[in-house]
Amino acid sequence: MATLPADAQKSVTVVGAGVAGMSAACALAEAGFRVQLVERRGYLGGRASSYLHPGMGEVIDNCQHVLFGCCTNLIGLYRRIGAYDRIHWTSEMTMIEPGGRRSVLGPSWLPAPLHGMPKLLAAHAFSVADKLSLARAFTALLRPVPANSTETLGAWLRRHGQTQGALERFWRLVIASALNADIDSIALPYAAKVIRELFMNSASAGSMGMSTVPLSELYAPVKPFLEARGGSLFLNTCVESAAWDEPSSQWTIRTRSGELRSENLVLAMPFEGMRQLLPHLPALEGAQELASQIERHAHSPICSVHLWFDREITELEHAVLLDRELHWLYNQSRLRGDGGNHYIELVVSASERFAALQRGEAIALAVRELAEFFPRVREARLEKAALIKEVRATFCVPPGIDAARPSSRSPWPGCFLAGDWIATGWPSTMESAARSGHLAAEALCKAEGLNLQWLEPDFPRQGLMRWL
Ligand SMILES: Cc1cc2nc3c(=O)[nH]c(=O)nc-3n(C[C@H](O)[C@H](O)[C@H](O)COP(=O)(O)OP(=O)(O)OC[C@H]3O[C@@H](n4cnc5c(N)ncnc54)[C@H](O)[C@@H]3O)c2cc1C
Repeated sequence: MATLPADAQKSVTVVGAGVAGMSAACALAEAGFRVQLVERRGYLGGRASSYLHPGMGEVIDNCQHVLFGCCTNLIGLYRRIGAYDRIHWTSEMTMIEPGGRRSVLGPSWLPAPLHGMPKLLAAHAFSVADKLSLARAFTALLRPVPANSTETLGAWLRRHGQTQGALERFWRLVIASALNADIDSIALPYAAKVIRELFMNSASAGSMGMSTVPLSELYAPVKPFLEARGGSLFLNTCVESAAWDEPSSQWTIRTRSGELRSENLVLAMPFEGMRQLLPHLPALEGAQELASQIERHAHSPICSVHLWFDREITELEHAVLLDRELHWLYNQSRLRGDGGNHYIELVVSASERFAALQRGEAIALAVRELAEFFPRVREARLEKAALIKEVRATFCVPPGIDAARPSSRSPWPGCFLAGDWIATGWPSTMESAARSGHLAAEALCKAEGLNLQWLEPDFPRQGLMRWL
């Protein structure tokens, strides 16, 4: 791989050490740039991170983060920093009804896109009418959806006669919750992408990965990775402004603790962070358009309830909880291989109602509902509990949102944009963030005369999907 010669080493400051910033920083360090990765918090990972919860005395993730086999750029980052073997993969999804009856979705020996059919047909969670309506919708999704479609997922589902069971137990719970929005606020092309990647393209693309260590520990190799290539990591360092000096072709980045200089800049912040920084960047033509794109973005919340019991309440690592406020269960003790601890995490996606509950109400509701799925909860003693509300968890993807997603090129010289909300074609996910980081690295390398490809190819379609 052609990289910058050591005597011509150029510098780049990457602002924001979320998945986007880490992906850009590691790629650019590998390309031979001297990278300064600057993060306002005291730990790596941004919206996908872990920290010591002061009240619990436990290191917890801000929320369980899952990835899928199709997340090729995120996997690329994990491989680059040597963290890939800390991901645990599973291809089965257990759905549980109140009362405890289970259905397992997952692949079979049949070729894609039929691989999930046998288990779907055997699932108790869906009636015959539900299964027929799901099969109809999946067949319709074999046809391309125009990228500029203005239809919502909800309108499309109504047009394709989905039953109440299919709507509630599959589309709302699995798909809309993966996109963290209501079915009537999701642009059809984004929903189609998720369904194809997770359920149709191949069994491996849809297998689910979960970190076996707290998230910030997963990224710990980023610091030595950068330092081994002449770079540095600045935590607890908030960037307040950046000024471009034309004669020296340098950026001066002002932080609360001093200044940093570099030839290039990557702004890898969420859209609200960009909104705050914009008035403190050079006033250039084009900045106004970026400002109006940012104004079109909105957030959707995710809440997680963390419960520590005195005994194990289920042997399952992961489950989808049907027909209640709770959506997803993660058995953190099992995932982390911590037998002495009985730590369960429950996730509620895109629910303004749940996000509005007080701590005590939310925890009581979670324990009550959990007992409906797992009777052992009634005998167990709850030792401690935490509620984490992330009101700015993800950005929404309503029809027309693509016009508000800028490319990695910015209006400023030597400055590139990253972040999950950049034009990646992916919804608000770690994969979108990793893609945006790789796209920014590619654009920066190109501007410096290096023709390097950082974007990982999409996961190949398998089985019949290669021809469909
Ligand atoms: C509760 C929750 C659950 C989620 N679940 C999943 C999931 O299961 N799977 C999935 O793929 N995605 C999930 N997501 C979405 C995923 O976390 C995000 O899409 C992704 O992490 C975004 O990464 P990013 O680097 O673009 O932005 P961020 O993670 O927001 O990173 C930006 C960084 O910039 C820093 N920053 C901002 N301003 C400044 C400044 N002025 N100076 C210095 N630093 C600054 C911030 O502190 C932050 O660390 C979830 C998100 C949340 C919140």
